[in-house]
Amino acid sequence: MASDSDSKTRQVVTRFAPSPTGYLHIGGARTALFNWLYARHHGGRALLRIEDTDRKRSTPDAIEKIIDGLDWLGLDFDEAPVFQSDRAERHAEVAHKLLEAGHAYKCFATPEELEDMRAEQRANKQPMRYDRRWRDRDESEAPDGAPFVIRLKVPTEGAATIQDAVQGEVTVNNAEIDDYVLLRADGTPTYMLAVVVDDHDMGVTHIIRGDDHLNNAFRQLPIIRAMDTIEGGWPDPVYAHVPLIHGSDGAKMSKRHGAVGVEAYRDEEGVLPEALFNYLLRLGWGHGDREEITKAEAIELFDLDGVGKGPARFDIKKLQHLNGHYIREADDARLAEIVAARIGPKADVALLTEAMPVLKTRAKSIVELADGAAFLFASRPLEMTEKAAKLLDDDARHRLAGLSKMLHVQNDWTIEALEATTKSYAEQLELGLGKLAQPMRAALTGTTTSPGIFDVLVLLGKEESLLRIDAQVSPTGTEKNE
Ligand code: GLU
Repeated sequence: MASDSDSKTRQVVTRFAPSPTGYLHIGGARTALFNWLYARHHGGRALLRIEDTDRKRSTPDAIEKIIDGLDWLGLDFDEAPVFQSDRAERHAEVAHKLLEAGHAYKCFATPEELEDMRAEQRANKQPMRYDRRWRDRDESEAPDGAPFVIRLKVPTEGAATIQDAVQGEVTVNNAEIDDYVLLRADGTPTYMLAVVVDDHDMGVTHIIRGDDHLNNAFRQLPIIRAMDTIEGGWPDPVYAHVPLIHGSDGAKMSKRHGAVGVEAYRDEEGVLPEALFNYLLRLGWGHGDREEITKAEAIELFDLDGVGKGPARFDIKKLQHLNGHYIREADDARLAEIVAARIGPKADVALLTEAMPVLKTRAKSIVELADGAAFLFASRPLEMTEKAAKLLDDDARHRLAGLSKMLHVQNDWTIEALEATTKSYAEQLELGLGKLAQPMRAALTGTTTSPGIFDVLVLLGKEESLLRIDAQVSPTGTEKNE
């Protein structure tokens, strides 16, 4: 179909093609995001292909983790995922078409022969590469029934040029590309063949992926171009090879730099999906100096010309900052649900929702929110941090005892009324408010940091507040300090 090969009239189709490794890598998530945004921006389709040909690593659990991670980030795909392992027959079919048309050939070299060849190349300090020994031989020279692989007949002269949407023009001499294997002796396809066939069959127009695949593009193009001469309708895709993410020390991001899986950012770092979405977007793509960009704005603004050529550095502080921003923006009931799931069965979503406006003002993560909310559900006697315990010295307990008496007869349990009572008591004692507020905080929350103390009193309610204060006034049931 002629119109199919006209890249200007083709609808944009992108794909994310992860190989399951047990989690969705932060770099993979960014690749997925860029593909998704590019498709959404251009009104195209975003597809997902699971490259599960390595059966040992591609367990159902590893696949589920990737799909879960994408789903959590809010990246939806326009078709059900394609599983590469289901398509081996079609891959083999293309290998045979290439073979029949003379763009590929059978290689009968045995593993021992290839090992000898490599040993010789090593000894002569030559590049280790298949020496094309079967390229021009006739298969009648092979022993009857001998196993063979199918190799691509890569042009030995000339060069291939790619107009990469990120890297610019890149040229590689064909002589640098070996006649690599397309189909193994057992008839199974290699990764290189599978990717090309799948991209074609899925109608992929734009291949956006890590720049660790740039060399592969030059190995994949000869298949595409050969198939285009054989049957037409195999246009070159547009390539966009995005620089990899580096850690703060400038080395390629790895486990050494901390968490590399998206789920760890969700579960251990307490990051909201919209914060990670925004952060990953800014990691290697920019629009002026805008830091906070919502999903809707990203769809409107994203294009490949904003992708940087240099590697981006992962900066957890920036992610935490954005996370704090999105926590403050987030709906309180939604945050309460997320925090409740973290706290466990004793959490009360309604109370958390009520507390959220004061809890979320400073929190940079869901973990901090949950920690900050823990006092609401603490059971008496409260566990005290060391600092909190120190605050509750004899003097402080005396003061709390006096305050408790006033609070017991306080009917108006509102922030304003509680503040007025506490202030007047502080004045009566000729003390700053802090001298009362700090021991109150210790008694009410078991810590030295919490939302405003009157917020705490209101959230806990009169009965619980007084039980907690009184437990400190007479920790063993008797007025020890009198
Ligand atoms: N499956 C490859 C990977 O996870 C990506 C292949 C591609 O994007 O062409 O690195």
